[in-house]
Amino acid sequence: MKKYNFNAGPSMLPREVIENTAKQILDFNGSGLSIMEISHRAKDFQPVVDEAVSLVKELLNIPEGYSVIFLGGGASLQFTQIPANFLIKKAGYLNTGAWAKKALKEAKFYGEVVEVASSADKNYTYMPRDFEIPTDLDYLHITTNNTIYGTETREDMDCPVPLIGDMSSDIMSRPVDVSKYTAIYAGAQKNMAMAGVTMIIVKDDMLGKMNREVPTMLNYSTHVEKGSMFNTPPVVPIYSLLETMRWVKAQGGVTEMDRRAKERAEILYGEIDRNKLFHGTVEEDSRSLMNICFVMNEEYKDLEKPFLDFATERGMVGIKGHRSVGGFRASCYNAQTIEGVNELVKAMKDFEAQH
Ligand code: PMP
Repeated sequence: MKKYNFNAGPSMLPREVIENTAKQILDFNGSGLSIMEISHRAKDFQPVVDEAVSLVKELLNIPEGYSVIFLGGGASLQFTQIPANFLIKKAGYLNTGAWAKKALKEAKFYGEVVEVASSADKNYTYMPRDFEIPTDLDYLHITTNNTIYGTETREDMDCPVPLIGDMSSDIMSRPVDVSKYTAIYAGAQKNMAMAGVTMIIVKDDMLGKMNREVPTMLNYSTHVEKGSMFNTPPVVPIYSLLETMRWVKAQGGVTEMDRRAKERAEILYGEIDRNKLFHGTVEEDSRSLMNICFVMNEEYKDLEKPFLDFATERGMVGIKGHRSVGGFRASCYNAQTIEGVNELVKAMKDFEAQH
């Protein structure tokens, strides 16, 4: 039976990315060796990193003066690495969900942290707006898409202090005004690659300003200077990232990804709003196009498990909501198809007709 993959991450990747990566795992560039078996310093691998960097720069229209690096450690290591490099005295964080909170917690190891705004009062069901940003912050950290709660902002805010964005779950799904950020980071395992690599975009003239020693591996300058090759990088994940970037470009770039995301979300939220059994969990103007969260209406609560079974029988994978929200979460990253969304909508309609 055909599967429709709504996993929140690691998640669906374009079929051709998987096939092309599989080919290189079996035989890298006709060398008779697997890409898993070669040195990252082999002359054939450097072009992989170079093309990946150049495609990321091209697709996101990154201005001069920014570097793109690929590291291990996940987005979670960035929760530490950001303050290690940028928190001199005081940083601000938007508390918009579980990942934002984890980022905030790590920053406290390095200095004073202020919660500039929070949506914890309503279980993170909205994106805070119209908050005041203190001007004495070393930076403001935001999470543009909250994977667990399904809230998102798709605008790049004007910020009076250096802005840092965790874009793990919406990177490459829309055009970004990179010039508004000092750094952007993303665990790649949603819209960019298989798990194992994290992409960081960092403004060069913000580096090297720390007033204390930064451990070598945590220091962004180390990795910028060595072109992500200070130590052994995650070779196969970087290769899969390159293939995904080629795919995004061939499909029409991030503008097309944005159009598709809106199209998918409109169909799915439309059904959630129409269907008598369900409602969305997030305030309308904060709804994520990437992680679409919905629950059973109170009078149909008992149908939660039966609907999950019903949808699973029709090939839906990964639609069970995160335990802190409950209900359902349909993740619709770049590789998600209209067909997948339509199948889920059909399951929702057919299940409604039975009750
Ligand atoms: N930030 C966000 C927004 C995430 O969704 C995740 C993981 N899903 C993380 C950070 C943590 O990423 P990792 O598992 O790569 O450390």
